[in-house]
Amino acid sequence: MAKKSLCDDCSGLCCRYFALPIETPDDWDDYDDIRWYLCHRDITVFVEDGDWYINVKNKCRHLRDKDHRCTIYEKRPKICRKYHTKECDLTEGEYDYELHFTDDKQMEEYMKIKFDNNVTEKRKDKQRAQKKARKKVKK
Ligand code: SF4
Ligand code: SF4
Repeated sequence: MAKKSLCDDCSGLCCRYFALPIETPDDWDDYDDIRWYLCHRDITVFVEDGDWYINVKNKCRHLRDKDHRCTIYEKRPKICRKYHTKECDLTEGEYDYELHFTDDKQMEEYMKIKFDNNVTEKRKDKQRAQKKARKKVKK
């Protein structure tokens, strides 16, 4: 009898999405582009170890519904071949993301806080600089 694998009792968790690295956002426009990704269904964006990723929740067309097996196992892409149960979606447990956005609303809130704070800081810096300049003039 063939040795039982962890995958035998899994619903093919790793075949139900893919994630791709994206550029780390820098300014408001970059964040707004990510907000646009997040307007789409089944898209999430997460940050892990400082790197940003887009996650597309979309089942592989070769994952069989009835038993969650790969129907092209012998010629599956190398990215699937390299994936091991030692560190997989079933065995790794919950992800520990630094940031995780599941829709555009969350990004909107994040941008509001991030950029409003920056604006406030800049405004304070400007006021401080003006105060200093006024003091110098008085001397
Ligand atoms: S590699 Fe892990 S997540 Fe993928 S099917 Fe096997 S047990 Fe499930
Ligand atoms: S090709 Fe097979 S192993 Fe690879 S994601 Fe699709 S179902 Fe999973």
